Amino acid sequence: MRLANKTCIITAAAQGIGRATVLAFAQEGAHVIATDINLAALKQLQQQSNRIEIELLDVTQVEQVVDLARHYPYTDVLFNCAGWVPTGNILACSQEQWHQAFKINVDSMYYMIRAFLPQLLLRPSSSIINMASAASSIKGVMDRFAYSATKAAVLGMTKAIAADYITQGLRCNAICPGTIDSPSLQQRIEHQAEREHRSREEVYQQFISRQPMGRIGNAAEVAALAVYLASDESAFTTGTFNHIDGGWTN
Ligand code: NAD
Repeated sequence: MRLANKTCIITAAAQGIGRATVLAFAQEGAHVIATDINLAALKQLQQQSNRIEIELLDVTQVEQVVDLARHYPYTDVLFNCAGWVPTGNILACSQEQWHQAFKINVDSMYYMIRAFLPQLLLRPSSSIINMASAASSIKGVMDRFAYSATKAAVLGMTKAIAADYITQGLRCNAICPGTIDSPSLQQRIEHQAEREHRSREEVYQQFISRQPMGRIGNAAEVAALAVYLASDESAFTTGTFNHIDGGWTN
């Protein structure tokens, strides 16, 4: 019960890392508000525990974000997990894709943090966790141009928030995963296989081959890190970039 008496909001909670974190937080005694745009998947998730509430939330819509913050005025933990992975280099990146990437990956966190911050500051010990990536200012990764730029922005935002509120009991940290198995990763593998006329297995093996540990990560491993950053066990930790990548960036 490492998160007993904590109310935690999670974005992009319907699948992948967000979903695994909802389950881990609930298992540790938190009251979890799981939000996403996929209502059917949220409903299925809610059945897993009576500590889980669900809310439809498109993180790019500031009015929806503000309404959610009004509806849940006592939040201890905010996990900004929502993100989109556009692929390609700078020449393949249209202005539309560039702006869309910033809208989903960066503007959304600005909206969420700005809306929830006043109430987070009212709690004795509160925590913001921002989902970044190993592909950011930490490691240059091919064909992740817009994605890397947005995740680097997430790291900057994390540092700034941590510095501004360090004396007020609010901590802010980032998680920087390497390759983690999730529905969207499976989709990326499928699309890449189609584009390059290769088999799914070949593309999957290419992801594995860049892993020093010989495997990709799973969502529960990232969720375990999120539990630590949400809990008071990490009370002395703020402004940090937490790599979880099987040694990829080592
Ligand atoms: P995913 O991409 O499989 O799922 C994303 C979820 O986001 C879906 O449930 C979708 O409905 C939801 N979503 C999409 N647009 C939304 C919006 N506008 N508002 C609210 N929800 C929306 O999940 P994942 O692969 O676990 O990725 C989660 C986060 O982790 C992302 O920020 C991603 O960039 C980051 N990340 C993932 C990996 C990886 O390898 N999977 C690696 C590093 C970082």
